[in-house]
Amino acid sequence: MNDVSYKSISEINSELPLVLIDFDHTIVDTDKMRLWMFDRIDKLGFTKEDIAKTYENAKNVDGSYSLEIHLKLLCDITHKNLDEASKKVFMELCPVQDTVYTDARKFIMNKSSDYNLLIFTLAEQKTQEARIDCSRLMNFIRGIVFTQIKKSQVLNKGIHKINDNIIFDVFPNLEFKKIILIDDHPREFEDLDPKLLSILDLFRLRREGDKYSTLETPQGIKEITSFNDLNL
Ligand SMILES: [Mg+2]
Repeated sequence: MNDVSYKSISEINSELPLVLIDFDHTIVDTDKMRLWMFDRIDKLGFTKEDIAKTYENAKNVDGSYSLEIHLKLLCDITHKNLDEASKKVFMELCPVQDTVYTDARKFIMNKSSDYNLLIFTLAEQKTQEARIDCSRLMNFIRGIVFTQIKKSQVLNKGIHKINDNIIFDVFPNLEFKKIILIDDHPREFEDLDPKLLSILDLFRLRREGDKYSTLETPQGIKEITSFNDLNL
């Protein structure tokens, strides 16, 4: 899968369930971080003209604004180092650890030895990696699956059931008994191949007042309002 890459942090234990957790709006309050970023982006030495000029092209595949892509475009035109700029933004200017939801941090810290916790994220990889690093959760997760295409497409292509076991193509040599997906956005579930509804354990996180909370949870998907509701 060319559109998917994996960063390993620690070894996967195929005896334990695999838990794929979305990052933005699921683990971190992305809107809060974005406000800080807009407020302070000029502290990185970018001009207001450059910020405005690149803004329109800083979009995800679905057309929504992407902080990560914006930073990358700014670094491209000013020849600044993206790694350094990302670290400075997310460590000093808008510290990601302060935007991690309390229930998400608690879940990730408490469950790290009972599950293979992975972050599953669609974003510009370099800046996303810097953000995840700055979230101070790296010691509790086993890896990050980065995708450039919709997550449902990755799962539709990459998940296979063989007898009682589930294979995820990112780890072609491993077989799991259980794979769980936790995501805040309904679109990640809407285009899933219907046969995956009985293979995967799917949870839509609908935090009250959060960005996508007005969107309905698709039929057949379990809805939770916080990680505290998760009954795995
Ligand atoms: Mg999300």
